[in-house]
Amino acid sequence: MAIQSTYGKDWGKKRSDVAQPSPPTAPDLLQATTTPDETSQNEEGLRPQTLADYIGQKDLKGVLDIAIAAAQGRQDPLDHTLFYGPPGLGKTTMALILAAEMGVNCKITAAPALERPRDITGLLVNLQKGDILFIDEIHRLNRITEELLYAAMEDFRLDITIGKGQSARTRSLSLPPFTIIGATTNMGALTAPLRDRFGLIQRLRFYDYEELTAIVTRTAALLNADITPPGAIAIAQRARGTPRIANRLLRRVRDYAQVKALGTITAPVATAALELLNVDPLGLDWTDRLVLKTMIEQFQGGPVGLEAIAAATGEDARTIEEVYEPYLLQMGLINRTPRGRTAAAAAYAHLGYSDPTGPTALP
Ligand code: ADP
Repeated sequence: MAIQSTYGKDWGKKRSDVAQPSPPTAPDLLQATTTPDETSQNEEGLRPQTLADYIGQKDLKGVLDIAIAAAQGRQDPLDHTLFYGPPGLGKTTMALILAAEMGVNCKITAAPALERPRDITGLLVNLQKGDILFIDEIHRLNRITEELLYAAMEDFRLDITIGKGQSARTRSLSLPPFTIIGATTNMGALTAPLRDRFGLIQRLRFYDYEELTAIVTRTAALLNADITPPGAIAIAQRARGTPRIANRLLRRVRDYAQVKALGTITAPVATAALELLNVDPLGLDWTDRLVLKTMIEQFQGGPVGLEAIAAATGEDARTIEEVYEPYLLQMGLINRTPRGRTAAAAAYAHLGYSDPTGPTALP
């Protein structure tokens, strides 16, 4: 199986330049998006290669197992498939596994790398029968590229305009049947015509502690790191339900164990390392805590709109919505209401505030 990558996953990491105290958590430690060194060698070596090796996401695996068997039985390519969910949950990994299981090539790209029409046409004309083209952040495609994809996905046809102005002509090229796998962190931003062209639409969920513990244990074995089961649990509990973060925390804890302990990652060693790195017991980082604090202190717990939270924290609204908010919702720390976001009682308790609606509220 050939893997080609035409982009670096680097969006969503920049803080706006509104003055804020500097974060005590190492800036990228709990970010679910990739850091530059992970995009290349580090992460590739850790990716599970088969469906059986892919931990968790039981429902998703069940659906894909059937889709693979059916496509293979008919000798057809897989249906176009859309994965959605927060970053770091295994969307790219699953696309690569699908290619391996189908015995086809997988090309990897992302919408921001498909700026000009020739970027997408160049990829499409080089596909062989059954190949998979993985497009990350697919909700960010520009209109022209998206329209080229409509005919390509529906009829395996590429409509290319040659020349300009009055002498412009449209040529149709037929393409071998292939599969697009799209990934998005923001399903709501996808246009309806694009969404409708996917035969399978699947959500990836946050992983529970047990699954994350299995992922940490597996990665530790691949890295030759010595870890006890309670050590793996301690890391899993602070990994925000996200394999990418679990693997990253493991690397940092391994360094700590090597330098400050006897090399073995036990629960006390993991806890001490994560405390030193300012990783909160719920896995919240500085920005999560800032968002909650701002909602409580400046907006009396809400309801407050996303833009207002973004302006008050100096964080990008899209990053809050796609990267931070899903985990805060999952942990029951905030709620989304038609009138805006509200801080939940658990957020008051976690940050040590008295809950204005709770029994201990001051008069
Ligand atoms: P996404 O595309 O959703 O941002 P990736 O597929 O790049 O996420 O996964 C990030 C990392 O997490 C990968 O390097 C992989 O090692 C690990 N990972 C993701 N899902 C799983 C899983 N189900 N089992 C084991 N490791 C996983």
